[in-house]
Amino acid sequence: MKYDFNDPSITVALVGAGGFIGSHLLEAILERTQWRIFAVDLDFHKVQQHLQNHRIEFLCEDLEEPSVLKKISSYPIVIQLAAICTPSRYNTETQKVIESNFLTPAALAKACADSGSWLLYFSTSEVYGKTSSEALLLEEDQSDFVYGSIHASRWSYAIAKQLSERYIASLVHLSWTILRPFNFIGPRMDFVSGLDGEGIPRVLASFCGALVKNEAMKLVDGGKAQRSFTSIHDAIRFIFLVLEKPHLSKQEVFNIGNPDNEISIRELSFLMQKIHAEITHKNPKEYKSPIEVSGTNYYGKGYEDSLRRVPSIQKSQKLLGYLPTEPLEKTLKESILWFIDHYTPIIENQETQR
Ligand code: NAD
Ligand code: UDP
Repeated sequence: MKYDFNDPSITVALVGAGGFIGSHLLEAILERTQWRIFAVDLDFHKVQQHLQNHRIEFLCEDLEEPSVLKKISSYPIVIQLAAICTPSRYNTETQKVIESNFLTPAALAKACADSGSWLLYFSTSEVYGKTSSEALLLEEDQSDFVYGSIHASRWSYAIAKQLSERYIASLVHLSWTILRPFNFIGPRMDFVSGLDGEGIPRVLASFCGALVKNEAMKLVDGGKAQRSFTSIHDAIRFIFLVLEKPHLSKQEVFNIGNPDNEISIRELSFLMQKIHAEITHKNPKEYKSPIEVSGTNYYGKGYEDSLRRVPSIQKSQKLLGYLPTEPLEKTLKESILWFIDHYTPIIENQETQR
């Protein structure tokens, strides 16, 4: 069955619509389709400018509520993004992380199997686990998963997601697609600690926060880990390919990534400082040097890291015709500009109130 983007009678349930990916996807669905959106999230700040749109019904409620689950699964397409997915919480709120990334998605998957909805489930590239610096390209249907010991609670999220994947794939009556994002980046990611949130956001927001607050970036374990960053715009294009080609994407697992955007976290910190200096014309000597911190001190006991994580995109190229086009520097520039525009007035406001 195909879903016509111009059919206004189709409603898609977007769960986690108020988050980083959800807010971009909500805008893209409004722009590129005639569909209606049943949006669910505990937070609406990133999408509040759209809440008056007659094509959106926004429910600010917990997905764990059985009545909310039931309503979500009454729609033909369910995109499930809602989750606790910030690494700083994996070893400090382990039970909640497992419930959020296994128990809740499992209940939603069961409801979708009963109702006949197609579930697009956002898993994670973390399912590939504790990859070493020699790691090969990670393949959806070939690579093995290695996790740390039970005391290394960092892996609670990865294991919960992996179990959700297996549970989803076990439901014989469910139409599903599993998506594994590789470090998406772009405007509106996470928060800046002390300005609109508390704690440690993911690395792009953490480094952008340090730049706008003129603080030192923190390099975990020397910043030796490597990541392959994916522009949110490439990611959204990917999701549309999945929606456009259900006959090829149902009952499949896909990486969403860009192997060309691989960089170490240390190099990332210097590159972001360079781009920030070009945008603001600030003297490079005025930046505070990055500070090295141990993972255990920064995130707490139980933190371990994945040292290298590069996606194979062969399967998505072959099946869906996906090719990422957004280079790292361009996405970093767009993100840093957004963080400057969004947070400078908040910082100035805080300063005048002191
Ligand atoms: P995000 O934290 O920005 O968004 C998640 C949203 O889910 C938040 O707005 C939160 O309020 C909402 N939420 C959480 N629990 C909820 C509940 N019980 N009921 C209702 N709403 C709830 O995260 P994101 O970056 O947009 O990621 C979305 C999904 O993609 C997650 O499942 C995550 O595991 C997965 N993912 C993302 C990345 C990435 O690079 N952004 C990487 C790997 C996996
Ligand atoms: N990291 C860092 N400083 C920060 C935040 C993160 O050095 O302020 C590192 C982290 O230890 C990891 C990488 O950056 O090696 C990516 O972290 P992120 O939290 O973005 O997500 P992950 O890919 O680990 O899920």
